[in-house]
Order: sequence, then structure tokens, then C-alpha cells
Amino acid sequence: MNWMISANGKMYDHATAFQKWGFVDWRQRANYSVGDIVYIYCTKPFKRVMYKTVVEQESMTSQEIVDDSMYWNIKEEYEKALGGKYARLKLIQQVDTEKLELNHLIEYGLKAAPQGPVRLKDELSKYIDIHMNDYAGNGVFPETAIPNNYYEGAVHKVTVNKYERSSIARQRCISYNGTNCFVCGMNFEEKYGAIGKDFIHIHHVVPLNEIGKEYVVDYKNDLIPVCPNCHAMLHRKINGKYLKWDELRDLIENDRDS
Ligand SMILES: [Zn+2]
Ligand SMILES: [Zn+2]
Repeated sequence: MNWMISANGKMYDHATAFQKWGFVDWRQRANYSVGDIVYIYCTKPFKRVMYKTVVEQESMTSQEIVDDSMYWNIKEEYEKALGGKYARLKLIQQVDTEKLELNHLIEYGLKAAPQGPVRLKDELSKYIDIHMNDYAGNGVFPETAIPNNYYEGAVHKVTVNKYERSSIARQRCISYNGTNCFVCGMNFEEKYGAIGKDFIHIHHVVPLNEIGKEYVVDYKNDLIPVCPNCHAMLHRKINGKYLKWDELRDLIENDRDS
């Protein structure tokens, strides 16, 4: 069976919970079976389906679920949910594409923005699945479309990590930092016009060997927008070490002055 539920990021920070555990323990308001697919529709400002999950466990009690109280922004809602049943929804795919906005979902048979769980007809599930792989749709981060996790840049092969590939992390970094390259200031829309709108790479500044098990990416401090050229340079070593983004910025600024 395929379902759709709705999630309000202002109430519960499901994006960070998914990053931390790869699942969410969600208040269960329908008769799910293990193996059912649950698509998550995100309310304003997104108004689109952004996650595909599978029911891993159902009818769990609040004693059996992970302690996710820190991800609840509205404590009364958290407490209200505690008496009920929960289902563990394991993340299969995440995506951010206009093709999964409410108006398209309605064209394919959804009646209105979901409140509680809605059962989906095959036509709608098929439509959603097609666009679940739609990385080209957001055009922001080409690495995601390349299975081997590297980007063949003009200058150098850039190996990216899962934080740089995550569409959630990318979206948050961009809404916080904008789309200008932190290093050289380049903006693709200014340079290339409409085709460059929203295009930028995301670089993760924390060295992977310093990341422990419990690490949750901090999109304000750990991720920065960079253009592909500067990104390639940040992934290149000089004298055996990587430059920090501000060192690279200073380097090209000094170069311009001389
Ligand atoms: Zn740059
Ligand atoms: Zn990078």
C-alpha cells in the first residue's frame, strides 16, 4: 500500500532527524503494514513531496521510539503524541523538485494538500516515483546525479561527501547563505543569466576524519556555497594539505592586488 502524510517543519524538524537516524518515528494515524510506502508532503514554504519512506515497524509505543524530543519545536504537540502509536518510517529517497509540488500532485489525482494519511492510487504513486530521481529538476548540485560520487570538473576531479550531496543540507545552506561563491564571489545568474539561476556547489568544511558517529551537519557553519572552480581548488592539496576556504579567498584576492 502507498500512503502520503504531511509534515510541518516548523513543528518537528524531520529533516535533521532523517539526517541523524535515517528514519523518523512518526505518530501513526492509519493501519500501516510493514513494507508500505509513505511519501512525506512538506507544508509551507515547500508545498511538495520531498521524502519517500518505507514502514519498518508499526504500532510502536512511546517507550519504543527514539528520543527525538529535541527536534520538536512545539512541546505540547510532542507531549500530545506520546500516548498514541508510532510507526518507524525509514528514509529511502529525498528530493526537491517543482514536479512534486501540490498543483502537479492534484493533476495526478490528489484531492488536496494531505492532512492525515491518504492512500494513494497507482497513477499518483507512479508519477511521484518517476520524479523521485529528478535531481536535474533542481539543477543546483550536479554531483547528486553522478552515481560514483565524484564530479569531473574542468580542472580537477572533485570527490564530494554525503553532506555535500544531501539535498536537504544543500537547500538549507542556500537559504541561509545565498548562492554567491564564498571564495570568489561569483554568482551564476549574474554571469550567465536565467540559466544560471540557483546554480551553485556546496562544500562541506569539516574534514571527514574529524567527524564522529553522532555528527549532525550544521548547515550554518559546516556548509558553504562555492563555484565549481573554487570547489575544485578546495579539494586539491598543496604541500600535503587542503586550503581552508578563507585561505583560498585571501590567496586569490592577493593575486588580484599584485
Ligand atoms: Zn568561486
Ligand atoms: Zn567540497
